[in-house]
Amino acid sequence: MRLVLLGPPGAGKGTQAEALAGHFGVPHISSGELLRRHVASGTTLGREVTGYLDRGELAPDDLVMAVVDEALAGAASGYILDGFPRTLSQAEKAEARRGGAFADAVVFLDVANGVARRRMAQRLAGRSDDRDRGVIDRRLRTFHEETDPVVHYYRDRGMLVTVDAAQPPEAVTAAILAALAGRRPG
Ligand code: AMP
Repeated sequence: MRLVLLGPPGAGKGTQAEALAGHFGVPHISSGELLRRHVASGTTLGREVTGYLDRGELAPDDLVMAVVDEALAGAASGYILDGFPRTLSQAEKAEARRGGAFADAVVFLDVANGVARRRMAQRLAGRSDDRDRGVIDRRLRTFHEETDPVVHYYRDRGMLVTVDAAQPPEAVTAAILAALAGRRPG
């Protein structure tokens, strides 16, 4: 199973990705987590992206593609991808590189800005980009400017499953699994 999760920050992508990874027995790959790991280990790539993460801006495509490509190459049985693609150009590059075998379905975790904002403020993980009101607002704005077109792209191609992500986490997981089962032939 190759699944892509889309949704604004605070939609619960990480939580849902963990649950789905457990369900399907495939790895959870989070582009944000991969980038944060580079920052924490002080790699060259980490030093290049750290300012973008701190400001809540998208990191440059080539750097993001490099870490995601490497992670996908090691996930032969499939993956739950969280946080990528965030731009149309990333989606097109990922499709081109993987010869149309990039995603079986794309799940959109739909949640209003107010709910997303409240959840980020309550997050316990202690991420620095969850603490600053201006950074949170920029990440939400960036989602609507850059990633809404990715949602439309997959909707137009009949690959999108939209789920109400304001529900409790277990209900969201159940809704995703039901929607995916409904899409499968037979
Ligand atoms: P996330 O953990 O998905 O909220 O991502 C945290 C931060 O990592 C984002 O605010 C961006 O700065 C960066 N990031 C993660 N994924 C991407 C991506 N696909 N493209 C560009 N920047 C990304």
